Amino acid sequence: MNVLVQKYGGTSVGTPERILRVADRILAARRTGVAVVSVVSAMGHTTDELMEMARKVTPNPPRRELAMLLTTGEQISISLLCMAIQAKGARAVALTGLQSGIITDTNYADARIKRVRTQRLRQHLAKGEVVIVAGYQGVSNGTEITTLGRGGSDTTAAALAAALGARTCEIYTDVEGVYTADPRQVPNAARLDYIAYEEMLELAGSGAQVMHPRAVEIAMRFGFPLLVKPSYSDGAGTVITEGSKLESVAITGVTTDKDIGKIAIQKVPDRPGIAAKILSALARERIHVRLIIQSVNEGNVNDVTIVVKREFIERASAVLERMCRSLKASGVVCDPNMAEISIVGSGIASTSGVAARMFKALARKNINIDLISTSTIRIACVIDRRRVDDAVRAVHDEFKLGRLKRRAV
Ligand code: ASP
Ligand code: MG
Repeated sequence: MNVLVQKYGGTSVGTPERILRVADRILAARRTGVAVVSVVSAMGHTTDELMEMARKVTPNPPRRELAMLLTTGEQISISLLCMAIQAKGARAVALTGLQSGIITDTNYADARIKRVRTQRLRQHLAKGEVVIVAGYQGVSNGTEITTLGRGGSDTTAAALAAALGARTCEIYTDVEGVYTADPRQVPNAARLDYIAYEEMLELAGSGAQVMHPRAVEIAMRFGFPLLVKPSYSDGAGTVITEGSKLESVAITGVTTDKDIGKIAIQKVPDRPGIAAKILSALARERIHVRLIIQSVNEGNVNDVTIVVKREFIERASAVLERMCRSLKASGVVCDPNMAEISIVGSGIASTSGVAARMFKALARKNINIDLISTSTIRIACVIDRRRVDDAVRAVHDEFKLGRLKRRAV
């Protein structure tokens, strides 16, 4: 069976009219003779609205019931989309995460997919039905409803594509594809025809909102391409694929994350095991640490600085305050108003002078760099949030990314 997996984002199914248009698109794909599985997100901002409602009831909603609440968003969109397809005369079935056999670990808020039991999906496909699957959700321990983390519908789609042996996975969204920078920040940003998995992972991990990084990891592991396409037009979109199939370029994109904070624990004793203690305490609270910097040792103490997303700042500060007392460090300082700007490209490590050019572009705009981190395909600078738009334009111009053309080889 030749299976095509597609995913439609929240904007693409934001209104009943749009749902009808998505139904047409699905039926067009179906007419080419492939079996179609379409994963959908919740309509528009439903997930945010549900989250807000929960917070109005209690500031700290219990994880289990929060997952139960949030997954109702996707149930609305799958039911409506399935009705739309049936109304147009085709056969279709809507399935929740549980019904689709998406088995996860027991983390209610940020669950990992362990396996997909595809039997039921295959039965429906074999009967010629279009299968509409609720994104962002799974089930653990038999019947416990879990969610895959915000934006997780992409991951649902990639996991289904892997499990069903699909040749590609299409991700329909409200933008034309993956860009060299966010077009809202950088008007001359260019759409990329191709991008390598690794580059996309770095872009997604450093603030670009287009794709859920775990979806890219799955596609990379199973070796199928992801196609990011606009749902409102016939634009070609961006193909995310293996780097070896692409022309090499030094830099593919600049991305920013305006939502980060920096917390430093000062003058912690310089002894083996201290960093392990601090990071274990953060891990126990399930805090995602983006960047860790230990300063050069002065005397027998160090400063340890971490960078986290806004949602983790409060909890991370509380953990570090506790560690500060127990380790007899001198204090904790928190700056919640930072941003990160990153350049990403598989040629970074092999092209000399890339970091220097990035830093010069920032210096020309008189932007101070607070922290720097580098990997073989990424250079990131933490800066003042108020300067981030200037920074991204300056860096994008420096590398002339508005004129970037990337071809397959
Ligand atoms: N509806 C979920 C969210 O808004 C999942 C998704 O859109 O992928 O995060
Ligand atoms: Mg979404």
